[in-house]
Amino acid sequence: MTNKILILPGDGIGPEIVAEAVKVLDCLRKDFGLGLEMEQGLVGGSAYDETGHPLPDLTLEQAGAADAVLLGAVGGPKWEFLDISVRPEKGLLGLRAGMGLFANLRPAILYPQLASASTLRPEVVSGLDIMIVRELTGGIYFGHPRGVRTLENGEREGYNTLVYRESEIERISRVAFDIAAKRDQRVCSIDKANVLECTELWREVVSRVATEYPQQTLSHMYVDNAAMQLVRAPKQFDVMVTTNMFGDILSDCAAMLTGSIGMLPSASLDEHGKGMYEPIHGSAPDIAGQGLANPLATILSVSMMLRYSLDQEAMAVRVDSAVNRVLEQGLRTPDIWAEGDTRVGTAEMGDAVVAALADQ
Ligand code: NAD
Repeated sequence: MTNKILILPGDGIGPEIVAEAVKVLDCLRKDFGLGLEMEQGLVGGSAYDETGHPLPDLTLEQAGAADAVLLGAVGGPKWEFLDISVRPEKGLLGLRAGMGLFANLRPAILYPQLASASTLRPEVVSGLDIMIVRELTGGIYFGHPRGVRTLENGEREGYNTLVYRESEIERISRVAFDIAAKRDQRVCSIDKANVLECTELWREVVSRVATEYPQQTLSHMYVDNAAMQLVRAPKQFDVMVTTNMFGDILSDCAAMLTGSIGMLPSASLDEHGKGMYEPIHGSAPDIAGQGLANPLATILSVSMMLRYSLDQEAMAVRVDSAVNRVLEQGLRTPDIWAEGDTRVGTAEMGDAVVAALADQ
């Protein structure tokens, strides 16, 4: 079976890091028989420069025809002064909406070799492996009514609406339980059911869906406690599932437990498991074009793609262990480098992963 992958390098360090991920995909194709067809497309500022729009129609068509999308990053100072409707970030939002990507998967993994990179004590975070499942297309970020209105006394009032339908809660819950089935079978649902009726419903629906997964353990936690537990004892979590806004905040907090933004991949999935895969970091204009960027988050995004969209668990494990191997070898890009490590650039890191992969 041939999998069609759309490659969207984007802006800044995007093209550099994506090039390394493509090397990994090429190696899987040539050495391990992964059926693969890759096509490149335009998104973000570079798409605006070529076509006048950050998300050309052609890119959306390509994404529709692909089995999965691999994205680098978008944005940069060059495009900051454009009208908001054509800023690079609009390209990303347009892709998420156009592809119906409602489930955002953000793992926070701390490789034992990098335990000293975290601001938390090594024993608190070493071996950390959490998956945060965030609802991505609903909740307070999209709810209506919204806006700023002027009251009778002339004072202005801002308002937004937190709204979730049962079907929206059900489908994100299923994503979380399906993922937990491949992990430690534990889901913790995060809400604020003591204050918000909407998340009282959230709690009720997640509990109902849990009855379809009798082998799994479901727990509930209020979001304020979850934030505290994430920095107190993060290893207690396996899969966390939550709303758009809570997930936005908690996933950044969890990411930072690992100390390095250059190591973390993400996935956004639609109803059928088709997805877009990207590192969580941005286009890092401060280091773009210098061969300094860490490509591992993008390479690990390939691993997520293999696991969640292409149903190639064995290949995903190969990529994960190749990344582990280069870290074992002490190879580090500047963002994760410490005294005693071997400092390497973007392409050297990518080549080392490919060598570790080919050697399996
Ligand atoms: P950023 O993630 O690009 O960079 C933050 C810091 O982390 C910088 O010092 C950068 O050098 C470093 N960094 C990021 N990725 C790295 C990597 N792979 N290896 C080594 N170091 C890395 O965030 P920012 O500076 O706030 O934003 C820069 C641009 O990226 C902005 O235009 C922003 O809008 C955009 N952005 C895009 C996305 C996306 O495409 N998904 C996400 C966040 C920000």
